[in-house]
Amino acid sequence: MRFQFTQEQQRFREEVSAFLRQEMSPEYETVYGTFSEEKYWFGRALARKLADRGWLTIGWPREYGGGGKTFLEQSILDEQIGYQRVQRVGITGLNFAGPAIIKFGTEEQKKRYLPPIARGDVEYCQGFTEPNAGSDLASLQMRAERDGDDYVLNGSKMFTSYYAHADYIYLLARTDPDAPKHRGISLFIVEMNAPGISTRPLPYINGEVAAQTFFDSVRIPRSSLVGEENQGWYHAMTTLDYERVGLERYARVRRTFDDFVNFCRDAASNGKSLGHSPLVRHKLAELKVGMEGWGLLCWKVAWMQSQGEVPNAEASIAFLYGTQQRLRFAQAAMEILGQRGTLTPESELAPIQGAIEGVSRESLHLHGAGTLEIHRNIIAQRGLGLPR
Ligand SMILES: Cc1cc2nc3c(=O)[nH]c(=O)nc-3n(C[C@H](O)[C@H](O)[C@H](O)COP(=O)(O)OP(=O)(O)OC[C@H]3O[C@@H](n4cnc5c(N)ncnc54)[C@H](O)[C@@H]3O)c2cc1C
Repeated sequence: MRFQFTQEQQRFREEVSAFLRQEMSPEYETVYGTFSEEKYWFGRALARKLADRGWLTIGWPREYGGGGKTFLEQSILDEQIGYQRVQRVGITGLNFAGPAIIKFGTEEQKKRYLPPIARGDVEYCQGFTEPNAGSDLASLQMRAERDGDDYVLNGSKMFTSYYAHADYIYLLARTDPDAPKHRGISLFIVEMNAPGISTRPLPYINGEVAAQTFFDSVRIPRSSLVGEENQGWYHAMTTLDYERVGLERYARVRRTFDDFVNFCRDAASNGKSLGHSPLVRHKLAELKVGMEGWGLLCWKVAWMQSQGEVPNAEASIAFLYGTQQRLRFAQAAMEILGQRGTLTPESELAPIQGAIEGVSRESLHLHGAGTLEIHRNIIAQRGLGLPR
């Protein structure tokens, strides 16, 4: 067992890290809950610079605009983006829509959709969840009815993140209402400016704004179908596990933890150094154990993908553990800081730019990419082999 990066991977990590540190400045850092249009467009420009260096899709095959490396290199990039607090852009295209097209798309779709993603030129959003289909996603009701050479979409999607800047929506819709529920679903890529699409903003606790997205007789060509008709559920599930690797999410929290440890080393509370307090030291030590564990679980999933394996229970283990670790960290940091922990970035007195207040709100997001209960169900069934 070789438990380390290759020299080349290590060099890549150092290069990316140095490049991002040089490009970033504090006003563009996305500390939790400090989103802005300016930061978003800064992130877009930076994505193009990463693309120019061949790094944005370094793990994709060369023939589709990628760097021909493995998922480990792609994960190293994600990790550095998170750690340097770069506003993340293009995730849905890079992590789900792109890989789904590579795996299931036609040659024409690959030529049309992949190069703009690899260049950092487009934004995608994801239309899976519906008002009556969240955890039980296969119950989704949005219809895609065949009409000549077109499909006509009717229905609505919930919690569409990144909708405001999206050029395309990657969505699931029901193409056969009479088939068993997992079998009558298809996967589509639809232009967000298609006539009949409208949105209603849904502001989140962490400052981000998603949307409910409505489809009113939206006509799309047959070429929008990705993969086989009625096989969309299986196509989408293959790529959904990629969402759960989460090295960027891990690294973003890890950066806040590292900053917090540095803060505790120097800061004083009621005249006493936090770093000398046995209570604080033990809490930080426990958190360090959890952070190391989370990182290792994420890297294990990334490594499996680099070997061509499709992680399943492993991805759920990493995701569940990470969501809980983020919550544990936020609660412990709040306890250590007391009322100061609730100060937002606008206050000069907020410790580490208000990141603790921000990560506390962020940590209440327990539902994205599958709720804790759903991940426990997956681990019980597929990880432990317990009956359905
Ligand atoms: C930050 C964020 C971003 C998101 N972005 C997107 C996006 O871009 N596109 C998109 O399509 N969706 C998105 N989602 C939606 C997300 O996928 C759903 O919230 C998730 O699938 C859960 O669905 P729900 O919210 O309808 O909750 P429900 O499924 O209604 O669940 C409610 C509660 O019941 C529990 N529960 C449900 N079923 C079971 C079960 N079988 N066993 C035990 N407990 C159960 C759940 O765990 C939960 O606690 C996002 C969510 C968040 C938080």
